Amino acid sequence: MLRPLLARYAPTPADPDWDLAAESIAVLMRWFGLVVGALLANVGSPSADQWPLNLILLLGLGFTVLDTYFFSRRRIFLRDHPLVIAVMESLFIGLLCYFQGGLESPFRFYYLLSLVCSAIRFSQATTFVNCGLACLSYGALYFSQPSATRDPLAVAFLVVVLVWVAWAASSLAKLLRRAGERLRALNAELQEHQNLLESRIAERTRELEESQAQVLHQEKMAAFGLLAAGIAHEVGNPLTSISTLVQMLETRDLDDYTRTRLGQVAGQLARIQTILRELVNFSRPANSQRGTASVGEIVREALDIAKYYKGGKNRRIRTEVPDDLPPVAGVRDQLVQVVFNLVLNAIDATGKGGEIVVSAIIEGDRLALVVRDDGAGIPDDVRAKLFRPYFTTKRHGTGLGLFVLRKIVEEHGGTVSVASDPGRGSTFRVELPFVQSSERLQPVEVT
Ligand code: ADP
Repeated sequence: MLRPLLARYAPTPADPDWDLAAESIAVLMRWFGLVVGALLANVGSPSADQWPLNLILLLGLGFTVLDTYFFSRRRIFLRDHPLVIAVMESLFIGLLCYFQGGLESPFRFYYLLSLVCSAIRFSQATTFVNCGLACLSYGALYFSQPSATRDPLAVAFLVVVLVWVAWAASSLAKLLRRAGERLRALNAELQEHQNLLESRIAERTRELEESQAQVLHQEKMAAFGLLAAGIAHEVGNPLTSISTLVQMLETRDLDDYTRTRLGQVAGQLARIQTILRELVNFSRPANSQRGTASVGEIVREALDIAKYYKGGKNRRIRTEVPDDLPPVAGVRDQLVQVVFNLVLNAIDATGKGGEIVVSAIIEGDRLALVVRDDGAGIPDDVRAKLFRPYFTTKRHGTGLGLFVLRKIVEEHGGTVSVASDPGRGSTFRVELPFVQSSERLQPVEVT
Protein backbone atom coordinates (compact mmCIF):
# COMPACT_ATOMS: atom_id res chain seq x y z
CA MET A 1 0.00 0.00 0.00
CA LEU A 2 2.74 2.39 1.10
CA ARG A 3 5.21 1.31 -1.55
CA PRO A 4 3.12 2.22 -4.63
CA LEU A 5 2.30 5.53 -3.00
CA LEU A 6 5.99 6.24 -2.39
CA ALA A 7 6.83 5.15 -5.92
CA ARG A 8 4.29 7.66 -7.24
CA TYR A 9 5.99 10.50 -5.51
CA ALA A 10 9.57 9.34 -5.94
CA PRO A 11 11.85 11.94 -7.55
CA THR A 12 11.94 11.60 -11.31
CA PRO A 13 15.26 10.31 -12.68
CA ALA A 14 17.44 12.83 -14.50
CA ASP A 15 16.66 13.03 -18.19
CA PRO A 16 18.74 15.76 -19.85
CA ASP A 17 16.49 16.08 -22.93
CA TRP A 18 13.32 16.44 -20.91
CA ASP A 19 14.98 18.75 -18.37
CA LEU A 20 16.21 21.14 -21.05
CA ALA A 21 12.86 21.17 -22.87
CA ALA A 22 11.04 21.88 -19.57
CA GLU A 23 13.59 24.53 -18.66
CA SER A 24 13.00 26.32 -21.97
CA ILE A 25 9.29 26.61 -21.05
CA ALA A 26 10.10 27.75 -17.49
CA VAL A 27 12.52 30.44 -18.74
CA LEU A 28 9.90 31.82 -21.12
CA MET A 29 7.26 31.81 -18.39
CA ARG A 30 9.60 33.77 -16.10
CA TRP A 31 10.28 36.41 -18.75
CA PHE A 32 6.62 36.68 -19.52
CA GLY A 33 5.81 37.00 -15.79
CA LEU A 34 8.41 39.75 -15.43
CA VAL A 35 7.09 41.77 -18.37
CA VAL A 36 3.48 41.45 -17.20
CA GLY A 37 4.59 42.27 -13.64
CA ALA A 38 6.46 45.40 -14.79
CA LEU A 39 3.37 46.55 -16.71
CA LEU A 40 1.15 45.91 -13.70
CA ALA A 41 3.49 47.85 -11.43
CA ASN A 42 4.15 50.83 -13.68
CA VAL A 43 1.31 51.34 -16.17
CA GLY A 44 -2.08 52.75 -15.31
CA SER A 45 -2.39 54.25 -11.84
CA PRO A 46 0.90 53.47 -10.14
CA SER A 47 0.56 52.62 -6.47
CA ALA A 48 2.56 54.25 -3.70
CA ASP A 49 4.57 51.02 -3.42
CA GLN A 50 5.87 51.27 -6.96
CA TRP A 51 9.53 51.37 -5.83
CA PRO A 52 9.48 48.30 -3.63
CA LEU A 53 7.56 46.51 -6.39
CA ASN A 54 10.16 47.46 -9.00
CA LEU A 55 12.93 46.41 -6.62
CA ILE A 56 11.36 42.95 -6.20
CA LEU A 57 10.88 42.69 -9.97
CA LEU A 58 14.53 43.69 -10.41
CA LEU A 59 15.58 40.84 -8.12
CA GLY A 60 13.35 38.56 -10.20
CA LEU A 61 15.04 39.89 -13.33
CA GLY A 62 18.46 39.02 -11.87
CA PHE A 63 17.33 35.48 -11.16
CA THR A 64 15.79 35.11 -14.64
CA VAL A 65 18.95 36.42 -16.34
CA LEU A 66 21.00 33.83 -14.44
CA ASP A 67 18.51 31.14 -15.35
CA THR A 68 18.63 32.15 -19.02
CA TYR A 69 22.44 32.25 -19.02
CA PHE A 70 22.67 28.72 -17.63
CA PHE A 71 20.06 27.52 -20.10
CA SER A 72 21.97 29.03 -23.03
CA ARG A 73 24.90 26.81 -21.97
CA ARG A 74 22.59 23.77 -21.85
CA ARG A 75 22.68 23.69 -18.06
CA ILE A 76 19.96 24.21 -15.48
CA PHE A 77 20.36 26.79 -12.75
CA LEU A 78 19.81 25.26 -9.25
CA ARG A 79 18.70 21.95 -10.83
CA ASP A 80 19.48 19.98 -7.69
CA HIS A 81 17.93 22.52 -5.33
CA PRO A 82 14.26 22.76 -6.32
CA LEU A 83 13.24 23.72 -2.79
CA VAL A 84 15.46 26.82 -2.88
CA ILE A 85 13.63 27.88 -6.05
CA ALA A 86 10.24 27.08 -4.46
CA VAL A 87 11.07 29.17 -1.35
CA MET A 88 12.29 32.11 -3.44
CA GLU A 89 9.27 32.05 -5.75
CA SER A 90 6.77 31.88 -2.84
CA LEU A 91 8.54 34.77 -1.13
CA PHE A 92 8.77 36.75 -4.36
CA ILE A 93 5.07 36.29 -5.23
CA GLY A 94 3.97 36.93 -1.60
CA LEU A 95 5.88 40.24 -1.57
CA LEU A 96 4.47 41.29 -4.97
CA CYS A 97 0.94 40.61 -3.66
CA TYR A 98 1.72 42.45 -0.42
CA PHE A 99 2.77 45.63 -2.26
CA GLN A 100 0.13 45.39 -4.99
CA GLY A 101 -3.47 44.64 -4.05
CA GLY A 102 -3.07 42.34 -1.02
CA LEU A 103 -5.26 39.22 -1.01
CA GLU A 104 -6.98 40.31 -4.24
CA SER A 105 -3.70 41.11 -6.02
CA PRO A 106 -3.49 39.96 -9.66
CA PHE A 107 -0.01 38.65 -8.72
CA ARG A 108 -1.67 35.79 -6.75
CA PHE A 109 -2.12 33.99 -10.08
CA TYR A 110 1.67 33.74 -10.24
CA TYR A 111 1.39 31.00 -7.59
CA LEU A 112 -0.37 28.89 -10.23
CA LEU A 113 2.32 29.61 -12.83
CA SER A 114 5.01 28.72 -10.30
CA LEU A 115 3.29 25.37 -9.64
CA VAL A 116 3.05 24.63 -13.39
CA CYS A 117 6.78 25.40 -13.74
CA SER A 118 7.61 23.14 -10.81
CA ALA A 119 5.40 20.32 -12.15
CA ILE A 120 7.08 20.19 -15.54
CA ARG A 121 10.60 20.45 -14.11
CA PHE A 122 10.52 18.48 -10.87
CA SER A 123 8.87 15.49 -9.23
CA GLN A 124 5.28 15.39 -8.02
CA ALA A 125 6.51 15.46 -4.40
CA THR A 126 8.49 18.65 -5.02
CA THR A 127 5.46 20.23 -6.67
CA PHE A 128 3.34 19.48 -3.61
CA VAL A 129 6.03 20.93 -1.34
CA ASN A 130 6.02 23.98 -3.61
CA CYS A 131 2.23 24.08 -3.26
CA GLY A 132 2.59 23.95 0.56
CA LEU A 133 5.05 26.87 0.44
CA ALA A 134 2.69 28.86 -1.80
CA CYS A 135 -0.15 28.24 0.71
CA LEU A 136 2.14 29.38 3.54
CA SER A 137 3.09 32.51 1.60
CA TYR A 138 -0.56 33.31 0.88
CA GLY A 139 -1.44 32.52 4.51
CA ALA A 140 1.23 34.98 5.72
CA LEU A 141 -0.22 37.56 3.32
CA TYR A 142 -3.65 36.90 4.82
CA PHE A 143 -2.42 37.62 8.36
CA SER A 144 -0.50 40.70 7.21
CA GLN A 145 -3.74 42.33 6.02
CA PRO A 146 -6.10 44.36 8.22
CA SER A 147 -8.71 42.03 9.68
CA ALA A 148 -11.54 43.94 7.99
CA THR A 149 -10.24 43.03 4.53
CA ARG A 150 -9.61 39.35 5.30
CA ASP A 151 -11.92 36.86 3.63
CA PRO A 152 -11.22 33.29 4.88
CA LEU A 153 -13.41 31.82 2.14
CA ALA A 154 -11.30 33.43 -0.58
CA VAL A 155 -8.13 32.03 1.03
CA ALA A 156 -9.65 28.57 1.31
CA PHE A 157 -10.72 28.73 -2.33
CA LEU A 158 -7.24 29.74 -3.50
CA VAL A 159 -5.67 26.94 -1.44
CA VAL A 160 -8.02 24.42 -3.04
CA VAL A 161 -7.18 25.75 -6.52
CA LEU A 162 -3.43 25.60 -5.74
CA VAL A 163 -3.62 21.95 -4.63
CA TRP A 164 -5.80 21.20 -7.63
CA VAL A 165 -3.35 22.77 -10.09
CA ALA A 166 -0.36 21.14 -8.35
CA TRP A 167 -1.95 17.71 -8.73
CA ALA A 168 -3.26 18.25 -12.29
CA ALA A 169 -0.06 19.81 -13.63
CA SER A 170 2.27 17.26 -12.05
CA SER A 171 0.09 14.33 -13.19
CA LEU A 172 0.06 15.68 -16.73
CA ALA A 173 3.83 16.16 -16.65
CA LYS A 174 4.22 12.59 -15.37
CA LEU A 175 2.05 11.29 -18.16
CA LEU A 176 4.10 13.17 -20.72
CA ARG A 177 7.33 11.87 -19.24
CA ARG A 178 6.04 8.31 -19.36
CA ALA A 179 4.95 8.75 -22.98
CA GLY A 180 8.41 10.14 -23.75
CA GLU A 181 10.10 7.17 -22.10
CA ARG A 182 7.90 4.73 -24.03
CA LEU A 183 8.70 6.53 -27.26
CA ARG A 184 12.40 6.38 -26.47
CA ALA A 185 12.20 2.66 -25.73
CA LEU A 186 10.32 2.07 -28.98
CA ASN A 187 12.86 4.16 -30.82
CA ALA A 188 15.72 2.13 -29.34
CA GLU A 189 13.95 -1.08 -30.35
CA LEU A 190 13.45 0.26 -33.84
CA GLN A 191 17.10 1.23 -34.04
CA GLU A 192 18.11 -2.23 -32.90
CA HIS A 193 15.94 -3.82 -35.57
CA GLN A 194 17.36 -1.48 -38.15
CA ASN A 195 20.92 -2.39 -37.15
CA LEU A 196 20.06 -6.07 -37.34
CA LEU A 197 18.54 -5.60 -40.76
CA GLU A 198 21.55 -3.64 -41.96
CA SER A 199 23.98 -6.28 -40.70
CA ARG A 200 21.91 -9.00 -42.39
CA ILE A 201 21.90 -7.10 -45.66
CA ALA A 202 25.66 -6.58 -45.36
CA GLU A 203 26.16 -10.29 -44.71
CA ARG A 204 23.96 -11.33 -47.65
CA THR A 205 25.77 -8.84 -49.91
CA ARG A 206 29.11 -10.26 -48.83
CA GLU A 207 27.93 -13.81 -49.48
CA LEU A 208 26.64 -12.79 -52.89
CA GLU A 209 29.91 -11.06 -53.72
CA GLU A 210 31.85 -14.13 -52.65
CA SER A 211 29.78 -16.53 -54.70
CA GLN A 212 30.01 -14.19 -57.69
CA ALA A 213 33.77 -14.09 -57.26
CA GLN A 214 33.92 -17.87 -57.12
CA VAL A 215 31.82 -18.24 -60.25
CA LEU A 216 34.02 -15.71 -62.00
CA HIS A 217 37.13 -17.60 -60.98
CA GLN A 218 35.69 -20.90 -62.18
CA GLU A 219 34.70 -19.31 -65.47
CA LYS A 220 38.19 -17.89 -65.82
CA MET A 221 39.76 -21.27 -65.18
CA ALA A 222 37.35 -22.94 -67.63
CA ALA A 223 38.16 -20.36 -70.32
CA PHE A 224 41.86 -20.81 -69.65
CA GLY A 225 41.44 -24.58 -69.91
CA LEU A 226 39.61 -24.28 -73.21
CA LEU A 227 42.27 -21.97 -74.59
CA ALA A 228 45.09 -24.23 -73.41
CA ALA A 229 43.40 -27.30 -74.89
CA GLY A 230 42.84 -25.44 -78.16
CA ILE A 231 46.48 -24.31 -78.35
CA ALA A 232 47.70 -27.77 -77.41
CA HIS A 233 45.60 -29.24 -80.19
CA GLU A 234 46.62 -26.69 -82.80
CA VAL A 235 50.30 -26.80 -81.87
CA GLY A 236 50.28 -30.51 -81.06
CA ASN A 237 49.34 -31.69 -84.54
CA PRO A 238 52.14 -29.94 -86.48
CA LEU A 239 54.47 -30.89 -83.63
CA THR A 240 53.67 -34.55 -84.05
CA SER A 241 54.27 -34.23 -87.80
CA ILE A 242 57.64 -32.54 -87.16
CA SER A 243 58.56 -35.26 -84.64
CA THR A 244 57.66 -37.97 -87.13
CA LEU A 245 59.73 -36.26 -89.82
CA VAL A 246 62.70 -35.95 -87.45
CA GLN A 247 62.39 -39.62 -86.51
CA MET A 248 62.26 -40.54 -90.22
CA LEU A 249 65.36 -38.45 -90.93
CA GLU A 250 67.18 -40.05 -88.01
CA THR A 251 66.78 -43.49 -89.65
CA ARG A 252 68.76 -42.22 -92.66
CA ASP A 253 72.47 -42.46 -93.13
CA LEU A 254 73.56 -39.08 -91.78
CA ASP A 255 76.83 -37.41 -91.06
CA ASP A 256 77.71 -36.80 -87.41
CA TYR A 257 76.98 -33.09 -87.45
CA THR A 258 73.45 -33.53 -88.89
CA ARG A 259 72.71 -36.44 -86.49
CA THR A 260 73.75 -34.35 -83.49
CA ARG A 261 71.65 -31.39 -84.61
CA LEU A 262 68.66 -33.61 -85.34
CA GLY A 263 69.04 -35.10 -81.83
CA GLN A 264 68.92 -31.58 -80.41
CA VAL A 265 65.78 -30.78 -82.45
CA ALA A 266 64.16 -33.98 -81.15
CA GLY A 267 65.09 -33.00 -77.57
CA GLN A 268 63.54 -29.55 -77.94
CA LEU A 269 60.44 -31.04 -79.54
CA ALA A 270 60.07 -33.43 -76.59
CA ARG A 271 60.36 -30.44 -74.26
CA ILE A 272 57.61 -28.56 -76.07
CA GLN A 273 55.42 -31.66 -75.89
CA THR A 274 56.03 -31.95 -72.12
CA ILE A 275 55.08 -28.30 -71.64
CA LEU A 276 51.90 -28.79 -73.64
CA ARG A 277 51.03 -31.90 -71.68
CA GLU A 278 51.54 -30.10 -68.37
CA LEU A 279 49.48 -27.18 -69.57
CA VAL A 280 46.64 -29.44 -70.64
CA ASN A 281 46.86 -31.44 -67.42
CA PHE A 282 46.71 -28.33 -65.32
CA SER A 283 43.88 -26.71 -67.18
CA ARG A 284 41.64 -29.74 -67.59
CA PRO A 285 38.26 -29.40 -65.84
CA ALA A 286 38.89 -29.61 -62.09
CA ASN A 287 38.46 -33.00 -60.62
CA SER A 288 36.35 -32.69 -57.49
CA GLN A 289 36.90 -36.23 -56.30
CA ARG A 290 38.11 -36.39 -52.74
CA GLY A 291 40.91 -38.70 -51.87
CA THR A 292 44.37 -38.58 -50.38
CA ALA A 293 47.25 -36.82 -52.01
CA SER A 294 50.97 -36.77 -51.38
CA VAL A 295 52.25 -33.34 -50.41
CA GLY A 296 55.42 -33.86 -52.48
CA GLU A 297 53.33 -34.52 -55.60
CA ILE A 298 51.06 -31.55 -54.96
CA VAL A 299 54.06 -29.22 -54.69
CA ARG A 300 55.80 -30.76 -57.71
CA GLU A 301 52.72 -30.45 -59.92
CA ALA A 302 52.17 -26.83 -58.91
CA LEU A 303 55.83 -25.92 -59.54
CA ASP A 304 55.91 -27.76 -62.88
CA ILE A 305 53.41 -25.33 -64.28
CA ALA A 306 54.44 -22.27 -62.24
CA LYS A 307 57.89 -22.34 -63.84
CA TYR A 308 56.31 -21.29 -67.15
CA TYR A 309 54.75 -18.26 -65.54
CA LYS A 310 56.24 -14.92 -66.56
CA GLY A 311 59.47 -14.53 -64.58
CA GLY A 312 59.20 -18.01 -63.08
CA LYS A 313 62.45 -19.10 -64.70
CA ASN A 314 64.40 -16.20 -63.17
CA ARG A 315 63.60 -17.06 -59.58
CA ARG A 316 65.43 -19.48 -57.35
CA ILE A 317 62.59 -21.79 -56.33
CA ARG A 318 63.60 -24.31 -53.65
CA THR A 319 61.52 -27.03 -52.09
CA GLU A 320 61.98 -28.47 -48.63
CA VAL A 321 59.41 -31.22 -48.59
CA PRO A 322 60.49 -34.44 -46.82
CA ASP A 323 59.55 -37.69 -48.59
CA ASP A 324 58.10 -39.31 -45.50
CA LEU A 325 55.29 -36.80 -44.95
CA PRO A 326 51.84 -38.29 -44.46
CA PRO A 327 49.30 -37.55 -47.21
CA VAL A 328 46.55 -34.99 -46.85
CA ALA A 329 42.89 -35.71 -47.50
CA GLY A 330 40.94 -33.67 -50.02
CA VAL A 331 40.58 -32.72 -53.66
CA ARG A 332 44.01 -33.02 -55.18
CA ASP A 333 43.50 -30.50 -58.01
CA GLN A 334 42.32 -27.91 -55.54
CA LEU A 335 45.31 -28.45 -53.28
CA VAL A 336 47.61 -28.06 -56.29
CA GLN A 337 45.85 -24.78 -57.01
CA VAL A 338 46.54 -23.58 -53.47
CA VAL A 339 50.30 -24.04 -53.84
CA PHE A 340 50.19 -22.73 -57.41
CA ASN A 341 48.46 -19.48 -56.39
CA LEU A 342 50.94 -18.92 -53.56
CA VAL A 343 53.94 -19.52 -55.81
CA LEU A 344 52.58 -17.22 -58.55
CA ASN A 345 52.09 -14.44 -56.00
CA ALA A 346 55.62 -15.04 -54.70
CA ILE A 347 56.99 -14.80 -58.25
CA ASP A 348 55.10 -11.53 -58.75
CA ALA A 349 56.41 -10.16 -55.45
CA THR A 350 60.08 -10.99 -56.12
CA GLY A 351 62.49 -9.54 -58.64
CA LYS A 352 64.93 -11.30 -60.91
CA GLY A 353 67.01 -13.75 -58.83
CA GLY A 354 64.53 -13.62 -55.96
CA GLU A 355 64.29 -16.64 -53.70
CA ILE A 356 61.14 -18.63 -53.10
CA VAL A 357 61.08 -21.56 -50.69
CA VAL A 358 58.21 -24.03 -50.58
CA SER A 359 58.41 -26.20 -47.48
CA ALA A 360 56.21 -28.63 -45.60
CA ILE A 361 56.47 -29.81 -42.05
CA ILE A 362 54.38 -31.65 -39.47
CA GLU A 363 53.38 -29.57 -36.48
CA GLY A 364 51.27 -31.42 -33.92
CA ASP A 365 48.18 -32.72 -35.68
CA ARG A 366 48.58 -30.38 -38.65
CA LEU A 367 50.69 -30.29 -41.75
CA ALA A 368 52.08 -26.84 -42.42
CA LEU A 369 52.71 -25.91 -46.06
CA VAL A 370 54.79 -22.77 -46.15
CA VAL A 371 55.63 -20.54 -49.13
CA ARG A 372 58.26 -17.96 -48.28
CA ASP A 373 59.67 -15.29 -50.53
CA ASP A 374 62.20 -12.51 -50.17
CA GLY A 375 60.14 -10.11 -52.26
CA ALA A 376 58.44 -6.78 -51.69
CA GLY A 377 56.51 -7.84 -48.61
CA ILE A 378 53.02 -6.67 -47.74
CA PRO A 379 52.27 -3.29 -46.14
CA ASP A 380 49.90 -3.39 -43.16
CA ASP A 381 47.01 -1.67 -44.95
CA VAL A 382 47.20 -4.21 -47.80
CA ARG A 383 47.46 -7.12 -45.39
CA ALA A 384 44.08 -6.32 -43.85
CA LYS A 385 42.40 -6.70 -47.28
CA LEU A 386 44.38 -9.63 -48.75
CA PHE A 387 41.66 -12.27 -48.76
CA ARG A 388 38.82 -10.05 -49.94
CA PRO A 389 37.43 -10.94 -53.35
CA TYR A 390 38.65 -8.64 -56.13
CA PHE A 391 41.31 -7.03 -53.94
CA THR A 392 44.47 -6.63 -55.99
CA THR A 393 47.42 -4.26 -56.15
CA LYS A 394 48.57 -5.61 -59.51
CA ARG A 395 47.91 -3.88 -62.78
CA HIS A 396 46.44 -7.00 -64.37
CA GLY A 397 45.45 -8.82 -61.20
CA THR A 398 41.99 -10.23 -60.56
CA GLY A 399 42.16 -10.27 -56.77
CA LEU A 400 40.71 -13.76 -56.72
CA GLY A 401 43.79 -15.91 -56.03
CA LEU A 402 43.95 -15.61 -52.27
CA PHE A 403 40.18 -15.47 -51.88
CA VAL A 404 39.73 -18.78 -53.72
CA LEU A 405 42.74 -20.23 -51.93
CA ARG A 406 41.29 -19.50 -48.50
CA LYS A 407 37.93 -20.98 -49.50
CA ILE A 408 39.64 -24.19 -50.63
CA VAL A 409 41.76 -24.41 -47.49
CA GLU A 410 38.77 -23.85 -45.21
CA GLU A 411 36.79 -26.48 -47.09
CA HIS A 412 39.66 -28.83 -46.30
CA GLY A 413 39.43 -28.01 -42.58
CA GLY A 414 42.58 -25.88 -42.66
CA THR A 415 43.66 -22.28 -42.07
CA VAL A 416 45.83 -19.75 -43.93
CA SER A 417 47.96 -17.10 -42.25
CA VAL A 418 50.41 -14.48 -43.47
CA ALA A 419 53.48 -12.95 -41.94
CA SER A 420 55.30 -10.21 -43.74
CA ASP A 421 58.16 -7.86 -43.31
CA PRO A 422 57.53 -5.02 -45.78
CA GLY A 423 60.52 -4.70 -48.08
CA ARG A 424 61.99 -8.04 -47.01
CA GLY A 425 59.47 -10.68 -47.96
CA SER A 426 56.38 -12.62 -46.98
CA THR A 427 55.51 -16.02 -45.64
CA PHE A 428 52.17 -17.65 -46.36
CA ARG A 429 51.38 -20.61 -44.17
CA VAL A 430 48.64 -23.12 -44.92
CA GLU A 431 47.84 -25.56 -42.14
CA LEU A 432 45.92 -28.68 -43.08
CA PRO A 433 44.89 -31.77 -41.18
CA PHE A 434 46.81 -34.80 -42.47
CA VAL A 435 45.79 -38.41 -42.73
CA GLN A 436 46.93 -40.23 -39.59
CA SER A 437 48.56 -43.61 -40.16
CA SER A 438 45.59 -45.37 -38.55
CA GLU A 439 43.23 -43.76 -41.09
CA ARG A 440 45.19 -44.61 -44.17
CA LEU A 441 43.59 -48.00 -44.57
CA GLN A 442 40.09 -46.52 -44.50
CA PRO A 443 38.18 -46.45 -47.81
CA VAL A 444 38.37 -43.14 -49.67
CA GLU A 445 35.23 -40.99 -49.61
CA VAL A 446 34.00 -40.02 -53.07
CA THR A 447 31.70 -37.02 -53.52
P1 ADP B 1 46.03 -11.05 -57.61
O1 ADP B 1 47.24 -11.92 -57.65
O2 ADP B 1 45.17 -11.16 -58.81
O3 ADP B 1 46.34 -9.63 -57.25
P2 ADP B 1 45.53 -12.37 -55.09
O4 ADP B 1 44.26 -12.57 -54.32
O5 ADP B 1 46.30 -13.60 -55.38
O6 ADP B 1 45.11 -11.60 -56.41
O7 ADP B 1 46.46 -11.38 -54.30
C1 ADP B 1 45.90 -10.19 -53.78
C2 ADP B 1 47.02 -9.22 -53.43
O8 ADP B 1 47.77 -9.71 -52.34
C3 ADP B 1 48.02 -9.00 -54.51
O9 ADP B 1 47.58 -8.04 -55.45
C4 ADP B 1 49.25 -8.52 -53.73
O10 ADP B 1 49.15 -7.14 -53.45
C5 ADP B 1 49.11 -9.23 -52.41
N1 ADP B 1 50.03 -10.40 -52.32
C6 ADP B 1 49.70 -11.70 -52.39
N2 ADP B 1 50.77 -12.48 -52.21
C7 ADP B 1 51.83 -11.67 -51.98
C8 ADP B 1 53.23 -11.85 -51.72
N3 ADP B 1 53.78 -13.07 -51.64
N4 ADP B 1 53.98 -10.75 -51.53
C9 ADP B 1 53.45 -9.51 -51.59
N5 ADP B 1 52.13 -9.27 -51.85
C10 ADP B 1 51.32 -10.31 -52.04
